[in-house]
Amino acid sequence: MSRLTSANSSHARYGDLRDEYEIIPTSGKAMPVKKGEVFRSVQHDPAGMCVDINIFNLHDYVEHVETSISRRQGFHIPLGGFAISDSPRNSLMMQVIEKPETCVIDMLGHRCSPAMNEAVWGEPDMTNCQDSLAGGIGEYGLTPDDTHASYTLWMPTGWDEAGLLTLRRNVGVKPGDCCDFLALMDVLMVACTCGINDLSPLGNYFQAPVSIGVFEASDETNAMVADVERRFPPLEGQKKPEDFPVKHHIEDRALRKVDGYKPQFNRFPMTYEEVEFELTGTDLEEAERLVRAGLRTDLEDAVRSGVIEWYNGNRANHHPLYGSIGGAAAYL
Ligand SMILES: [Zn+2]
Repeated sequence: MSRLTSANSSHARYGDLRDEYEIIPTSGKAMPVKKGEVFRSVQHDPAGMCVDINIFNLHDYVEHVETSISRRQGFHIPLGGFAISDSPRNSLMMQVIEKPETCVIDMLGHRCSPAMNEAVWGEPDMTNCQDSLAGGIGEYGLTPDDTHASYTLWMPTGWDEAGLLTLRRNVGVKPGDCCDFLALMDVLMVACTCGINDLSPLGNYFQAPVSIGVFEASDETNAMVADVERRFPPLEGQKKPEDFPVKHHIEDRALRKVDGYKPQFNRFPMTYEEVEFELTGTDLEEAERLVRAGLRTDLEDAVRSGVIEWYNGNRANHHPLYGSIGGAAAYL
């Protein structure tokens, strides 16, 4: 049975599910989504995986979602908020039409990359969002340089009084929780499970699959698009290539599937190794206390999280590519 299940949300009845894909850690997959259709991403068990997304205009890939203008709606995008493209296009590309409170859509962070992983953990070949997104869009002829700042789902960021970025655990996310986007124009969506879900609180120090899919347009979703267009009609200032005094050197920027494309992902598929050991005395008591307090889901989670938090606190390097996360920025 499909993990994407119901073609309904509390806001609209969608059309039929027409495409579905399971993203195995850690990889990326691109899917065209036409105006009026709905893109869904859904959590598996264990839930609480951070999901990075890039969004391109399907007919002109240079136009893509931009987090800094989207951030004007809040550091975390609310239900009903939009994915907005970069200036000078400034299109409302998609609208978030379904998400639980526990799904934080972040506009502050930046996708993990091979260079960041090397700087922090000394491993350039580790799994990372940059490579997974690039692997996904390669199916439509795009290169690693075409990726952009992620519109990130289930990424519970915070900030302290000094303005330093903090990352939190994905608390309260349940299997089956989904986040739905209504396409307000034809787009190419690409999604990946975050490459450092297992090394950061964003994935609760674990890696699990998520599913993505596309529902066809329905009368109700088309009516929702029309409603957005009525409330926020096109603006003269939303400039397009035909308005530019200087023309781009590439004429055809429509995205098409590349026949026979085979993506390459780092350390894919990820393997899981179970390690058995005895927990005694105060270590066991502390792990049980964390589970009882609801701060960890079970003893395995308590131990795994503790080990990686210790590793990050004592062995990971501070570096400007990871910025203030985990400590004050002191580069002078
Ligand atoms: Zn990532």
